Amino acid sequence: MFLKKLFAGGAALTVMPNASASLLDGILFNPCGTALPQHLAGHPLVIAAWEGIDPGRFWDTHAHIAGIGDGGSGIFTTPDMNSLWHPIQYAQHKFYLNAACTEKGRVDQSYIERMKHLIAELNHTASAKGGDAKQPHAKLMLFAFEQAYDEAGNAQPAHTAFHVPNAYALKIAQSSPENFEWVCSIHPYRHDAVEALEAAVAQGARAVKWLPSVMGIDPASPRCDAFYRSLARLNVPLICHAGEEKAVEGMGFHDANNPLKMRRALDAGVRVVVAHCASIGEDIDLDKGKHGPHVPSIELFARLMADANYQKNLFGDISAIVMRNRSIATLRAIIEHQDWHGRLLNGSDYPLPGVLPLYTTAKLAKAGLLDQSAVPVLDEIQLYNPLLFDFVLKRQLRYGMQKLPQSIFHTRDFFLRGKT
Ligand SMILES: [Zn+2]
Repeated sequence: MFLKKLFAGGAALTVMPNASASLLDGILFNPCGTALPQHLAGHPLVIAAWEGIDPGRFWDTHAHIAGIGDGGSGIFTTPDMNSLWHPIQYAQHKFYLNAACTEKGRVDQSYIERMKHLIAELNHTASAKGGDAKQPHAKLMLFAFEQAYDEAGNAQPAHTAFHVPNAYALKIAQSSPENFEWVCSIHPYRHDAVEALEAAVAQGARAVKWLPSVMGIDPASPRCDAFYRSLARLNVPLICHAGEEKAVEGMGFHDANNPLKMRRALDAGVRVVVAHCASIGEDIDLDKGKHGPHVPSIELFARLMADANYQKNLFGDISAIVMRNRSIATLRAIIEHQDWHGRLLNGSDYPLPGVLPLYTTAKLAKAGLLDQSAVPVLDEIQLYNPLLFDFVLKRQLRYGMQKLPQSIFHTRDFFLRGKT
């Protein structure tokens, strides 16, 4: 609700004169600081964040490609996203593109340039000496984003909220292999789903990304079985959203994001990464029947994590868990669940860490999860480099004596497991 009000307000702000809008830079809008000042790059909190972390093993497992299709990328968005008659979606899209510091007239291209700048800068902070360009370093795993499909396997562009073609994600990754890996997105109901998967993997895709409610996928459907068998055979992880979805609206299949529905993929031997550890929203407890009670989605994720059958192939990513719309109790649970830590993977959900109103470090400090003295430093870093902000914030999080371990940030190992 807070977000809906906020975004409705944002829509009004986007049509205000520039002078007024500029007053709000740094409060609502990202002012897009271009170069991280030295007092931040060399700040003790930044130095401490890299302690024990090998940048070469740091792959940000959750980064979105966005744009409007003005650079021949093939990206498209639902007309709703560009219409003032749909103020919430319009403002959300504006916020996302603002967060990514895109330039009018060359949105797609400037989005990629900004990501390259941010990841290069992140790497620069990894070494007090400025880093060695020849050394393997931190990368972003860029997500393609599949269209919606119907049950018969036909693409539904009119119901597709947002689409980033695999070919575009591949092209961007190939153009800058030192900065990017890529993650394909393939609908399992497509007639050519298995062939498309094999082709993407042959071209270096490291995983598959799904957002079931938006794409129109029921992960518990037998329609997915052939795709699951192929994922298991090829040893390709499936990064799947679970829990409530706030960022993109689409087919409106809300039940599709129920974490329990991932059992079908897990039982087929697929390595499944539940995005955000299902840290927001509620789902039906399907173990009590189709009309079971609604419970927090993260409880259902916790049930799967505790299942002895899934110890080897169920994982969670920690993208977006530090956002304002996650409860403190949820964040605390993730920090406290040491038994999960060996199966958690870091990701930023870029560009969201650049959307200033979605984060409140002060609230985390008040709850005792962050040192008060870190708040102004983190807030200033966020204005220049949202990737560094997300990383330093997660490295600073603590509850009592507990912290997120370094291993959560060494995500490359997970994607290269079993590969030569
Ligand atoms: Zn995401």
